[in-house]
Amino acid sequence: MGLRTPEQYRDGLRDGRRIFYRGDTVDDVVAHPELRPAVDHSALCYSIAADRPDLAVRTDDEIGDYSAFYHLPTSPEDMRERGALIEEVSRRGAGTIVLKEVGSDALFALLRAGQGEGLEAARAFSRRCLEGDLALAVAQTDVKGHRALGPSQQADPDLYLRVVDSDADSITVRGAKTHTSFSANADELIVLPTRAMGGDDGDYAVSFAVPIDTPGLNLYVSPYAAGERDAFSFPLSSKHKLLESLTVFDDVRVPRERVFLDRRPELAGPLALAFVDYHRFTAINYKLPLLDIIVGSAHLVAEANGISRAGHVRDKIARLIAWAETVRGLAELSALRAREGAQGVWLPDPLAVNMAKYTFAHGFHEASATLVDLSGGLLATGPGSEDWGNPQIRAVLEKYYAAAVPAEQRLRILNFIGDLTIRDYGGYQSVLATHAEGALEAEKMQIARSYDPAAATDYVRRLAGI
Ligand SMILES: Cc1cc2nc3c(=O)[nH]c(=O)nc-3n(C[C@H](O)[C@H](O)[C@H](O)COP(=O)(O)OP(=O)(O)OC[C@H]3O[C@@H](n4cnc5c(N)ncnc54)[C@H](O)[C@@H]3O)c2cc1C
Repeated sequence: MGLRTPEQYRDGLRDGRRIFYRGDTVDDVVAHPELRPAVDHSALCYSIAADRPDLAVRTDDEIGDYSAFYHLPTSPEDMRERGALIEEVSRRGAGTIVLKEVGSDALFALLRAGQGEGLEAARAFSRRCLEGDLALAVAQTDVKGHRALGPSQQADPDLYLRVVDSDADSITVRGAKTHTSFSANADELIVLPTRAMGGDDGDYAVSFAVPIDTPGLNLYVSPYAAGERDAFSFPLSSKHKLLESLTVFDDVRVPRERVFLDRRPELAGPLALAFVDYHRFTAINYKLPLLDIIVGSAHLVAEANGISRAGHVRDKIARLIAWAETVRGLAELSALRAREGAQGVWLPDPLAVNMAKYTFAHGFHEASATLVDLSGGLLATGPGSEDWGNPQIRAVLEKYYAAAVPAEQRLRILNFIGDLTIRDYGGYQSVLATHAEGALEAEKMQIARSYDPAAATDYVRRLAGI
């Protein structure tokens, strides 16, 4: 089939998928006024192939042209190029993940950590995605119930997705995943285990892929950033958003050729972690434009308020730059230190990846607070687009909200910062920074796991005469 256009991508979403949104069903996700911005945002992963083929297109003798997102990394240079592609598409998407990053992360994990028939199925599926230029969502996070209890210990057995039946041709699964980005606007859903599993958790160790319109698959999409929003008050979230769902599997039948892991608990942990290696690399690269947005906004609002030369402002902006460039440096390091994993599939350096993600997430809230600090109270009390659109009121606003720059320039940067930090999209970004691609503690755990202390302890032993 070859590379698809944005329109072909949109047309592919018009099928029998079952989406629930704000208490109602959705007939056409492409046409829905509140969901369409998310489809348009994700379509950037298709339009970039025509605009930047040097970054976004690869060629294979057999397949012809295919999306570079699906190019299996086999060297540090491949990893660096993947990082550059993720950064560029995110720059077009105003600093948020766009679409194909997450599905390709899952494919790489399946190709590296898979075994036996599951690996064969993953290879065939991966090829189909590449040839059809498919859009994939990934459902890894289970609803998880009581956090201190494992899958088989929960009061309700469906709080982690599980196999409830099987025959020679298929397995049947029941349960729910949550926070699933892109599920409503992808072609296929890849399911991965969310954690390591013990011997009693066998039924829960499952991985597969299904088309979104598969019978029994129901998507309950979150209503954040709902309602109409204009470009004056919401310069970011009127154009860019993602759709996350509670993804319910009501006895979904999955043909064997689409099953990558069938009740082998010993493989669940390695597969979950393999995905995390790639997905955090995606995270730190798609965050790079967001870091630029934060530093750029700080400069512009300081200029608008006439405080650029103040000592405390220079100090705050210098700290933002140090944070942003530390994350960038670690992102580059993780590609530079890429290494070969199982089945010849390369992975980014887990230590540098997790340090970058942790540094980003840990620093995000302070950075957001700095923007609020430099902006002043108008972030909360400023005028809306209706007032700005009324010539008589606008004249008053222009007179009284002018500062070191004209009022319009000042209000536009303030609305931009408000959308990013304190309104509903800002709240979403705050949770995204903390939890998406793994919570802070998960990153710390991986940092500790990825660091071999032997050289450091040997050195101290020698110095201390131990
Ligand atoms: C915007 C957004 C998009 C996302 N997109 C996707 C997606 O596309 N696909 C996907 O699969 N997932 C996705 N996620 C899920 C994301 O990976 C999870 O939110 C993250 O792993 C945290 O899981 P949780 O939300 O269940 O929080 P929890 O795991 O409940 O975490 C809450 C707190 O409890 C702590 N905690 C949890 N368990 C334990 C324990 N056993 N012992 C001690 N402390 C514990 C955590 O460290 C944290 O402090 C997305 C999340 C967000 C916010």
